[in-house]
Amino acid sequence: MYIKCRGLVIKQSDSGEKGKILTILTENRGVIYAKAAGGKNVGAGYFRCCQLFTYSEFHFYSGYNPGVLTILDAVYNRSFFELSKDIERFSLASYCAELCKISLVGNSDDTEVFRLLLNTFHTLEKEDYPLDHVKAVFEVRLGTLLGIAPYINECDCCGKDLPSDEAFTYFDIDTSCVRCGSCKPKIKSRGPVLLMPAGVYRSMLFVINAEKHNIFKFKTDEDTLNIFADISEKYLLRRLEYVPKSLPLYKSFKYACLPKGQEDEQV
Ligand SMILES: [Zn+2]
Repeated sequence: MYIKCRGLVIKQSDSGEKGKILTILTENRGVIYAKAAGGKNVGAGYFRCCQLFTYSEFHFYSGYNPGVLTILDAVYNRSFFELSKDIERFSLASYCAELCKISLVGNSDDTEVFRLLLNTFHTLEKEDYPLDHVKAVFEVRLGTLLGIAPYINECDCCGKDLPSDEAFTYFDIDTSCVRCGSCKPKIKSRGPVLLMPAGVYRSMLFVINAEKHNIFKFKTDEDTLNIFADISEKYLLRRLEYVPKSLPLYKSFKYACLPKGQEDEQV
């Protein structure tokens, strides 16, 4: 059987002297594992398409082993190779790709998740947002596309509209819901319940509802971003029940940049 689809190479490994095995996140077929017989051969017609973080249209053949397809040909579209020149951006791109890979099962909307990853890679490569901003937006939007968006319209206990001027707003990591200060002591949560300042609330609401090309286009101050990033990461990883292997690498660069003595406060 022959298959044609667009996809982004998110992992590569050697296969023999000249070949590669690629993990490709596709536009509408989820994750595909494919063998590229001449993937390491510069003279191969599809050599450029077999590089990490390259987006192409692939032509596959599915033989007796449907788990691993064979690449027959590929048409290059664009590369995010620039990301690999900055190890911090590269580690964040790897984190986002890994989350997409483990999310694309069942009935999730593959095309939108694929577009989100391309948009995030483009933003990482071309824009100058703080990396935690890009990461937090990606996390909240991915959760939204997967149908597990945070529910932040009202207190999950008393129904009070939040945020309100009279009450602090808290975010329950275990349930992905918000809670007012009065109700917080009444409910025993199975996870952390974190204070959610109004700026963090507005950021999360914006990312959930924004038009897809505008999701990154807002600004926060540093304190707001730190809390937004913390809540977004804890929320998504809790819902997915998965800690990406690439996360510690990204964190290691973040903590390496902190002034001495502040490392512990960020844990
Ligand atoms: Zn309440």
